[in-house]
Amino acid sequence: MSYQAGRHFLQIPGPTNTPLPVLAAIAKPTIDHRGPEFGRLGREVLAGIKTIFKTENPVIIYPASGTGAWEAALCNTLSPGDQILMFETGWFSTLWSKMAKKLGLEAEVIPGDWRHGVDAGAIEARLAEDKDHRIKAVCIVHNETSTGVTSRVAAVRRAIDKAGHPALLLVDTISSLGSIDYRHDEWGVDVTVGGSQKGLMLPPGLSFNAISDKALAASRTAKLPRSFWDWEEMLEINAKGFFPYTPSTNLLQGLNVALGMLHEEGLDNVFARHDRAAEATRRCVRHWGFEIQCAEPAEYSSSLTAVRLPDGHSADNLRAEILARFNMSLGNGLGPLADKVFRIGHLGDFHDLMVTGVLTGVEMGLRVCGIPHNPGGVDVAMSYLAGNAGPGATPAN
Ligand SMILES: *Cc1c(COP(=O)(O)O)cnc(C)c1O
Repeated sequence: MSYQAGRHFLQIPGPTNTPLPVLAAIAKPTIDHRGPEFGRLGREVLAGIKTIFKTENPVIIYPASGTGAWEAALCNTLSPGDQILMFETGWFSTLWSKMAKKLGLEAEVIPGDWRHGVDAGAIEARLAEDKDHRIKAVCIVHNETSTGVTSRVAAVRRAIDKAGHPALLLVDTISSLGSIDYRHDEWGVDVTVGGSQKGLMLPPGLSFNAISDKALAASRTAKLPRSFWDWEEMLEINAKGFFPYTPSTNLLQGLNVALGMLHEEGLDNVFARHDRAAEATRRCVRHWGFEIQCAEPAEYSSSLTAVRLPDGHSADNLRAEILARFNMSLGNGLGPLADKVFRIGHLGDFHDLMVTGVLTGVEMGLRVCGIPHNPGGVDVAMSYLAGNAGPGATPAN
């Protein structure tokens, strides 16, 4: 393939664009993971990552994709044959429930329509029925990346408490961590699953389990087999900043820099920046005349927008044309949404001009493909962004 001038726009909802300072940190020589320099790095990242999950408890870091941390969350807290309750928000919640079944758990899935988030009332009703507490855990996806729907985790916590049920709460926050407000301790989450390649602006390859005291206690009696994923040895050695097996040294160097960038900007400013990008995108999409996959405005995702194309038009063809002509990757429709939906990732390292650039690329693609739309969506996004000063517009001091 010949060289394509200009930067590639990686606008899938993860992996996201990795900022240069993070790439530079990853490109530094690999250090001895048993030496003193690594000990300092390990202690720094293990302390720093807690502030992103908003927890005082330890966070485990695995050299694995998010899927690994899903498995770790289940096999450290549960035993073969345990009943767990899940909610079908879309593709990722479905994959997690399939994994649970493969691991020998009895996963009961409350069906959903892939346009709404977790129904806390349905969780409460099911738990209230479970008088002898056979359900050991409730597992939900905070930000469903296949649909662009963000569920209200605090409402699910309240539902479990109202039912007076002791089930653990396990939450996947892979595509919301560092993009959308998340509070592991305050929301009473027992295990939070995170990944490096979305809001944390790193390449794929690291994933996380934030754990509560209750989850840690459950791990002492949980009988699912585990070795690589075992929390116990990890926690023991992490206390000194080290890992039981070779960690992803270079990605941890990158993580340290990414954590510094997130804190320098301020987490609240990071979340506000994502909210702005999402609102500009939705205004543009509505102006084009397309439906947003998320049907509940209170559940709109700030990290991505899934756009429904009118019947008879191929979302995959649109994405292919946009990639070929404008060097931009957009997310595909997953499962039943294949070819019907495309997803615009607006998470990680980006600013207003990148948002308008992305929307311009989509609008040009609509023209190229002859998909009927109301032109000028980008103008609507520009008006919104220009009229709503971001944090950069206020003096820093
Ligand atoms: C990306 C993603 C995953 C999968 O993570 P991998 O790193 O691909 O294993 C799981 N859940 C959600 C919500 C995601 O967005």
